[in-house]
Amino acid sequence: MSQRMRSQPMIILDDDSQRVQDEDAQEHNISAARAVAEAVRTTLGPKGMDKMLVDSMGDVTITNDGVTILKEIDIDNPTAEMIVEVAETQEDEAGDGTTTAVALAGELLKNAENLIEQEIHPTAIIRGFSLAADRAREEVNDIAEDIDPNDTEIVRKVAETTMTGKGTEVNKEFLAELVVEAVRAVTVESENGESVVDLEYANVETQTGRSAGDSELLDGAVISKDPVHDDMPTDVEDASILLLGEPIEVEEAEASAEISLSSPDQLQNFLDQEDNRLREKVSQIEDAGANVVFCQKGIDDLAQHLLAKRGILAVRRTKKSDIEFLKEVLDARIVSDLDSATAEDVGQGSVQRDESDELFYVEGNSDGSHGVTLLIRGSTDHVVDELERGITDALDVVSQAVSDGRVLAGGGAVEVELASRLRSYADSVEGREQLAVEAFADAFELVPRVLAENAGLDPIDTLVDLRAAHESGETRAGLNVFSGDVEDTFEDGVAEPAHAKAQAISSAAEAANLVLKIDDIIAAGDLSTSGDDEGGAPGGAPGGMGGMGGMGGMT
Ligand code: ADP
Ligand code: MG
Repeated sequence: MSQRMRSQPMIILDDDSQRVQDEDAQEHNISAARAVAEAVRTTLGPKGMDKMLVDSMGDVTITNDGVTILKEIDIDNPTAEMIVEVAETQEDEAGDGTTTAVALAGELLKNAENLIEQEIHPTAIIRGFSLAADRAREEVNDIAEDIDPNDTEIVRKVAETTMTGKGTEVNKEFLAELVVEAVRAVTVESENGESVVDLEYANVETQTGRSAGDSELLDGAVISKDPVHDDMPTDVEDASILLLGEPIEVEEAEASAEISLSSPDQLQNFLDQEDNRLREKVSQIEDAGANVVFCQKGIDDLAQHLLAKRGILAVRRTKKSDIEFLKEVLDARIVSDLDSATAEDVGQGSVQRDESDELFYVEGNSDGSHGVTLLIRGSTDHVVDELERGITDALDVVSQAVSDGRVLAGGGAVEVELASRLRSYADSVEGREQLAVEAFADAFELVPRVLAENAGLDPIDTLVDLRAAHESGETRAGLNVFSGDVEDTFEDGVAEPAHAKAQAISSAAEAANLVLKIDDIIAAGDLSTSGDDEGGAPGGAPGGMGGMGGMGGMT
């Protein structure tokens, strides 16, 4: 196989394509990746600033969340996209630490660039980075402290740390409390005494109009929908609730089928049949014993009227995810065909309308019902959206802290400790890989540097103090960004789950290595601009192109 790879194949390139090789390729890719990392760096930490993103439709997002920023901005450079993927992986695997992961990847590449300039081959760097990442993960494990998952105090600190600097900041303590309670509500002890958290049973719902301090943790579900008819009840104390997956309408196929009518009687007859079918469906709902229906699809006007007349509360176009959550809350079944609906499918509980007449609170009361909802309130859509991102991150982070029971001191404490430990480890690494391990160690120090920078503190002084503290054995010495002091951040209540940190290290190292492995870029078009614009052109009809260009010029 290596024989094959060494033989140089002949590549015939189109006139329009560009080819960049070796150092130039690496330089090109590294600078693209670093640009992305730099874009999110200023958001890191409690004092990080927010970004305002305006998409092509003019919609505005204001956020501090690394992954959201990278998802929203239009990146059409393939290398930069790899870095965006780092953020996405981090978000999926850990829920938090996206900015850290991306900034770390950028710094690794910057340091790699220096090594390449010193004629160190990328394969040696890649090997060194892999060694360093593995070692760093082991060290994270060693540094991490065990917590008692039932220790609400420390778990709440973890929640507060992830909420710092986000939209959640102002009501941090209160919201952290809600998040911890929500996680508690969906935690069960397994047979071997481990805490197992199932976040599927903790829903997050939002409402605009009030303040974040009015957010609540509720038993059951919150459905942000209106009744389909004004004459329906909105509060049903003894609710028998049917969850319906099919529409309460005459089936599409029946309605659109071609029929030929030869007399007005026939038309009437046909319409009567439709009405009868709707009446039948409503009766089936009643026969199953339901006085509330949450329907995932549409409800016909006549059916709405009939349901209202029978005093049945009906909601249409309920989100699929809400129907599925209601199923857990009510311990009910989702009925996909009314013909087979029975009383067994119906769930028991209560339905209540909220004061502002926008939401239903649905609670289940059978033994098998479970599920809680965090109802997040905020003054405007932008506020609520950013709150929701902060809350969902915090739910992930707290659930990790509870199920894994391992946390670290934040504020750059872990990173400085890791840098110091990797430097010692580097001494034992042979060859040029040693330099790469050292470069990896240096990259970790980016975190405290940027935390200091974003807080308006001197990054060099901070780093000097931090290194000194760690050299004298203060493993948990980090930067308190509010006082500017170097101190035991764990004691200050700045705690992060170990899992997220380990994940950030892996994803950053993998992304950096992926970029470094590329020594040849062959692009069908101009490298400096997007492939998208050009993408359509070569395939397009040659005759038509001139005309297209002309039209473009006119607008
Ligand atoms: P990420 O997307 O990586 O989670 P954040 O903007 O949430 O980025 O910043 C996380 C960093 O901020 C972590 O290094 C964390 O330890 C640090 N941090 C959080 N709260 C504090 C605090 N009160 N003092 C110092 N550092 C903090
Ligand atoms: Mg964070």
